Amino acid sequence: MDITDITDDLEKNDLEKIRQQINLIDGQILKALGSRRDLSNQIIQTKSEQQMPLRDSRREEELLSRLIKSGRDLGLDAHFVTRVFHEIIDDSVRSQQLFLLKSINPAEEGTKRVGFQGIEGAFSHLAAQKFFAKEIEQIVFVGHPTFAEVVQAVEQSAIDYAFLPIENTTAGSINEVYDLLSEARLAIIGEEVFRVEHCLLALEEVPLASLRKVFSHPQALAQCMKFLSQLETCQREYFADTAMAVRKVKEDQDPTQAAIASEDAGRRYGLTVLRRDIADQRDNFTRFLVAARHPIKVDLRIPAKTSLVITTPDEPRALLNALNVLGKHDINLTKLESRPKPRTPFQYIFYLDFVGNIADENVQAALEELSGTTSFLKILGSYPMEARGKTAPSIQSMVPPKKEAQSSEGPGGAAAEPKKAKAKVSYKLASRDTKADNTVITVRGVKIGGPEFTVMAGPCAVESKEQIFACARQVKECGGRILRGGCFKPRTSPYSFQGLGFAGLELLAEAGREYDLPIVTEVLSPGDVEAVAKVADILQIGARNMQNFSLLREAGKVNRPVLLKRGMMSTLDEFLNAAEHILGQGNQQVILCERGIRTFETVTRNTLDLGAIPILKHLTHLPIVVDPSHAAGQRDLVVPLALAAHAVGPHGMIVEIHPDPEKALSDGPQALRFPDFVGLMREIYKK
Ligand code: PEP
Ligand code: MN
Repeated sequence: MDITDITDDLEKNDLEKIRQQINLIDGQILKALGSRRDLSNQIIQTKSEQQMPLRDSRREEELLSRLIKSGRDLGLDAHFVTRVFHEIIDDSVRSQQLFLLKSINPAEEGTKRVGFQGIEGAFSHLAAQKFFAKEIEQIVFVGHPTFAEVVQAVEQSAIDYAFLPIENTTAGSINEVYDLLSEARLAIIGEEVFRVEHCLLALEEVPLASLRKVFSHPQALAQCMKFLSQLETCQREYFADTAMAVRKVKEDQDPTQAAIASEDAGRRYGLTVLRRDIADQRDNFTRFLVAARHPIKVDLRIPAKTSLVITTPDEPRALLNALNVLGKHDINLTKLESRPKPRTPFQYIFYLDFVGNIADENVQAALEELSGTTSFLKILGSYPMEARGKTAPSIQSMVPPKKEAQSSEGPGGAAAEPKKAKAKVSYKLASRDTKADNTVITVRGVKIGGPEFTVMAGPCAVESKEQIFACARQVKECGGRILRGGCFKPRTSPYSFQGLGFAGLELLAEAGREYDLPIVTEVLSPGDVEAVAKVADILQIGARNMQNFSLLREAGKVNRPVLLKRGMMSTLDEFLNAAEHILGQGNQQVILCERGIRTFETVTRNTLDLGAIPILKHLTHLPIVVDPSHAAGQRDLVVPLALAAHAVGPHGMIVEIHPDPEKALSDGPQALRFPDFVGLMREIYKK
């Protein structure tokens, strides 16, 4: 039966019937995925025989753009389609890589034994299952009491692989594993990055206040400190792994006990989830290494990493000389770790990870040269990189096309940079004389200051979950890269809406996560900088605060990009000096924003100073964006001003949008309605 027939015949209120149809469709989706994988496996044979590259990002981009278009015709949003097909493409890439690996590393058939520290349900076990997912039928997982026993079991051929955590994004390096690897006779053959999601688990649904004991691994307890501080009357007890803590709660049958572990461990041992996602930092990842007795060969078409252990001679510049060798060969070092050298107080061994493959001639040349500058060098192995990289659909494909034919006329590209005699200036770090190359700022993969025109959009103020989610969805659907939303609002009148504060910031962050958009929000007071920087990806300093020097200084101390808005009565020299206050504290990530200045003209809210853009590009290396919304103050001027601004060559734009501007709690008159925003994006990206 065809899906469309089913849908036509549907009796709307027959829930059971509808569910059956859904089951049928799900089955068809699965079948289609299976057929797709078979075809992808056929392709890899050809690619392998003909030495073709494994990935073709042009084809992937075209494929995504085409699917987004077809999806849109079916009422599916671009973000959803992109997410689904990223998973599907990633699965194909993983299968194809595995095929290539197996063809050059033939292994005996049969069961493989993988050792990890802990018992079943521990995070190491879950991550190992993910790593070996494609060959899971041939794998037996074996828990061990300690890391050392895992390593020893592989060395003594009792098992085939050691699966070991090496670093965590909250807790840092796992030193014991580094120390074991430097002495072990093992080679690294793979890595896995696993998202650690902590849950609070108990025997049954009980109020948090009734809990008396919480069990977990010391690291897991440390990662949930903020949550645990609410459970004041609870004692904490340490266990060798999180799953053991879960098992203990089950064994004791005491409803006043709880464990912190994965939801999977809870299910395995029959506990109930009381709270999900309780870690202080949401982005909590652990990187694991897979080690075996023999190294593997990695096909040059598979992106690979190499890990080394070195010691350097006790002489000036020794480490620098070693690192310079990598620099000379254009090698991207991804990790450098130092550990005390055993039995040699105050001497160190260094662990290096870099992008590259020992089968590559350039890497071989680098390693040969490196051995001349080090006193010891051990290659731990080359292995496929976990980050396989996702091809982004083009922004053009994200912007919904216009239905009717339209003219292709539009504003031109960047204007030529003006030649201008240099005046003596009082800022240094912001000046092009100090740094000739443009500063390009990267926030969660989004670049500001490079060749791409980056659009940030969102409401003036975060008002509710519905409002900010609607805006985020719209921004994403149109190819916007960053979500804006004020939570601490600098209002002229103290009686106006002042923003939702930290509660609003949480909503903004949630929307950013849902739609995979970095977030920018204004910080008003120096005392809030640290707390806002923990959640926001970019801190905004508003026009009214451009010369709030203590705020600038605080923003200069955190490692977060700062969107600095030009004060409404400020000259460009004052603007750049304000940036200098931030840069001077160590934070080199400043984005300048022209948002209009106050002139004698009162028809517009401010006068957008377009000339400032090419002048700033000449004077400074910092990225420059334009805010047409606060300059215009009225909706009908925002699009023309934005297009005019685009023509003078800024690196991006920040614009206010609102699902229902009449009801907006601040700056409603200048907020673009969603269709206006779509039109603007079409015009900018010529769609
Ligand atoms: C804002 O962006 O919400 C804002 C208050 O802007 P400005 O500081 O430019 O007035
Ligand atoms: Mn505003």
